[in-house]
Amino acid sequence: MKNAALSELFEQMADIMEIIGEDRFRINSYRRIARIISDMPTDIEILLATDRLAKVPGIGKSSLAKIEEFFKTGSITAHQELLARIPPHLLELLTIPGMGPKGVKAVYERLNVTSVAELKSAIQTGRLAELPGFGEKKAAAIARGIEFLEKSTGRIRLDQALEAAHMVTECLWDIPRIERIQPAGSLRRRAETIGDVDILVSARKAKARAKGAPEQIIQSFTTAPFIREVLAAGQTKGSAVVETLTCPVQVDVRVVSPDSFGAAAQYFTGSKEHNVRLREIAIKAKLKLNEYGLFKGDKKVAGPVEEEIYQKLGLDYIDPLLREDRGEVEAAKEHALPELIDLADIKGDFHAHTLASDGSCEPSELAEAARALDYKYICIADHSRSSAIANGLSPKRLAAQIKQIRKLNDKLKGITVLAGSEVDILADGSLDFDDKLLADLDFVIASIHSGLASPREKVTTRTLKAMDNPYVNCIAHPSGRLLGQREAMDIDMPAVIQHAAQTHTALEVNANPYRLDLKDTHCKIAIEANVKLAIGTDAHSAQGLGLMPFGVATAARGWATKADVLNTLTGRQLKAWVKAKRTK
Ligand SMILES: [Zn+2]
Ligand SMILES: [Zn+2]
Repeated sequence: MKNAALSELFEQMADIMEIIGEDRFRINSYRRIARIISDMPTDIEILLATDRLAKVPGIGKSSLAKIEEFFKTGSITAHQELLARIPPHLLELLTIPGMGPKGVKAVYERLNVTSVAELKSAIQTGRLAELPGFGEKKAAAIARGIEFLEKSTGRIRLDQALEAAHMVTECLWDIPRIERIQPAGSLRRRAETIGDVDILVSARKAKARAKGAPEQIIQSFTTAPFIREVLAAGQTKGSAVVETLTCPVQVDVRVVSPDSFGAAAQYFTGSKEHNVRLREIAIKAKLKLNEYGLFKGDKKVAGPVEEEIYQKLGLDYIDPLLREDRGEVEAAKEHALPELIDLADIKGDFHAHTLASDGSCEPSELAEAARALDYKYICIADHSRSSAIANGLSPKRLAAQIKQIRKLNDKLKGITVLAGSEVDILADGSLDFDDKLLADLDFVIASIHSGLASPREKVTTRTLKAMDNPYVNCIAHPSGRLLGQREAMDIDMPAVIQHAAQTHTALEVNANPYRLDLKDTHCKIAIEANVKLAIGTDAHSAQGLGLMPFGVATAARGWATKADVLNTLTGRQLKAWVKAKRTK
């Protein structure tokens, strides 16, 4: 589906027009088209091919022509012409948090800044702060934005890495004689961001140049249709850039002999820190550990099977999700590793939006999708009135929605829809709805959507105060970060965790791969403080419920067991858990 790429093109045209100062009306119309395309649940190419695109409200004749051109030629002439009117690196300024088209226009026109490097020097020399509309504070924020960007470049999100890995493994499975394929590295550990994707392959023995011989496997990979650029292609290792729908991803494929497959999986999964600890243990036991196996002198004592490496080192098997040297090696020695939460333990989802705010489904459609996932309950948590851009609900609309959900439950079998809300935490820490209305809800999540850049004291106090409310069961996306786009709030997380424990409030693990918030290390601290984690997909469509595995993996990376996660409770247990805070 090319919806995202095409929407991005229209958005970029609008950005360039805004920078060069074109007509406001045309800029807005391009932005509107970008939004229509990105919101489309169906493949736009199919709509175009079946003549249905022209009927979509908002798509006019000229935009239709551009979309047709895109699918015919792969580009849009108007877009190319616009690009030619600005310096080649100017648009990179837009990726800096805090820099919009207006800001780019200002620094380009008045300071002649055409790249991130030039903007940095304009900040250092104080020229940016002097520019009308900027000032010291804003210049400092932009400097932090550049720093944040430099830290995150080259890293991709988990969903992007998974997409690339999926494309490559599908293609590899088509090769005869392939026996095993194992994605390794930070992707296998489900780290929050990924550098490049490592994939290990083994095949049954084949004659040189036969299909399935190592160099042939590498060749099949590097000549696949989705490869944008080959970086290296050797006898047993190939490295190439895979073009996914959203971004290019570097993928390394290694062909490994079946005899060493376990050792290679262990070695290439990492983390580096975890592997250092394992090698130390091996050396102490007078063994040698490398990517080919575990050796005593010249004799291989483990290699084909990963579990055996751990076993021969005197350790319980350590799940890849825990391999970060955060205590897992010690725990494995003492047979004290946690039994990690698993997707199969999940009985419901706490965070889904409907058409009433900014989602795209009716509650009934979400209920069907949740039942298909074998859930027992799903909590509808639409935005509240202060989130006006997200069409947040007024008290009156929420009251009507509660009624609608109660009626729906009368008809549903096997699944319960919980009436909930993602209620805004206001600037003073109070909530967007009064207690009387909140008391009518089954489950309440509260979150901050404005003033995320406020000082530490302010954002922390706001969150603590919200937890004091007897009806607030969970704080959603507690840090507010968006991976690669927006830094976390400067919030005192240990204080938040401590207060959550004191007030019987859960903390969300938002499963959206942009968020993963709480992050793994904070999950671990929360669990140690006896705080329950509530995993929520923040779904805006039925499909969005499918993000749950990202949240489960993040919680597991924080050592969560079934007992630590609210989603494992039955409906009845959950009701009792909510009641415990209300009657305190
Ligand atoms: Zn939210
Ligand atoms: Zn939400």
